[in-house]
Amino acid sequence: MQCDKCGDEAVMSAAYSGQHLCADHFTRSVESRVRRRIRADALLSDDATPAAPETWLVGLSGGKDSAVLTQVLHDTFAADPRVELVAVTIHEGIDGYRDASLEASVELTEILDVEHEVASYADEYGIEMDAVADEDPLDMAPCAYCGVFRRDALSQYAEAFGADKLLTGHNLDDEAQTAMMNLLSGDVRQIAKQFDASLGSFEDRDLADAPFVPRAKPLRDVPEKEVALYAHLRNLPTHVAECPHASEAYRGEIRDHLHALEAEHPGTRHSIMAGYEDLARLAAEAYRDGADAPRGTCDRCGAPTGGEVCRKCDLLGELGGEVSGDA
Ligand code: SF4
Ligand code: ZN
Repeated sequence: MQCDKCGDEAVMSAAYSGQHLCADHFTRSVESRVRRRIRADALLSDDATPAAPETWLVGLSGGKDSAVLTQVLHDTFAADPRVELVAVTIHEGIDGYRDASLEASVELTEILDVEHEVASYADEYGIEMDAVADEDPLDMAPCAYCGVFRRDALSQYAEAFGADKLLTGHNLDDEAQTAMMNLLSGDVRQIAKQFDASLGSFEDRDLADAPFVPRAKPLRDVPEKEVALYAHLRNLPTHVAECPHASEAYRGEIRDHLHALEAEHPGTRHSIMAGYEDLARLAAEAYRDGADAPRGTCDRCGAPTGGEVCRKCDLLGELGGEVSGDA
């Protein structure tokens, strides 16, 4: 199989686009999709200047997705004085697993000379995921706690750091799974909230008085397999292992369905995301007009929440852990 562009040996073929690409043209194609997404999302604001640069905090787990995001952002913006890149790794307290991926994160940021910070559930909340998985007071899957804590820890860290944007390495498969899970849950308000928090272009989001650092996902047009191939071809230091507490059974079911659909109907993930983003924008606009979206803050930690106490403080209460946030 030959590269469509140069005739060299192809390293990938994508059914959804019909393209066959060699290593060189494939890596360029990933980079141009990420850069196109950054432009389409108006990620770099017109107000950013060399004298007043924006700080972009990158959530770096040490896995392939966030490593690829960090590398491509570095290649694109290292010489741009309007952007300062900082990476943060959240240590969940999972023996063995996160230590190895933290090493990969340290190695990558040292190679790229990107500032690297580490935060932990132990420091933030006085808990470790190994103990949470053992105790499990609410009889939930460990990921149900861990997802809430990670989201909160990243947000709190971004806020305390004074970051302008929080960037995560979610790829096309992650995003299509989340879209399907949100659609199947029937919670349109949640879909609307996702638009302003992390999905839409910065030109279309309502961020006035937003009580959070806005998120962006520049890899969201790139399928998971291509992210993995990119990390491999560029020899990025990554840690590939499954977390011992991995337990997202429902997401796993959705992933299997989407794989089957994509195999039969190439392009399904792209079309889901195109439609989902339109729907999320329309829902966000409708709720804004209705002005009935609750935007309160948590009584205990000050994080944004629709209720009196945020989900993280709720869970920490069940775990008997300390609440250290004071955002
Ligand atoms: Fe946390 Fe689940 Fe991810 Fe493990 S797999 S780090 S428990 S969210
Ligand atoms: Zn709270």
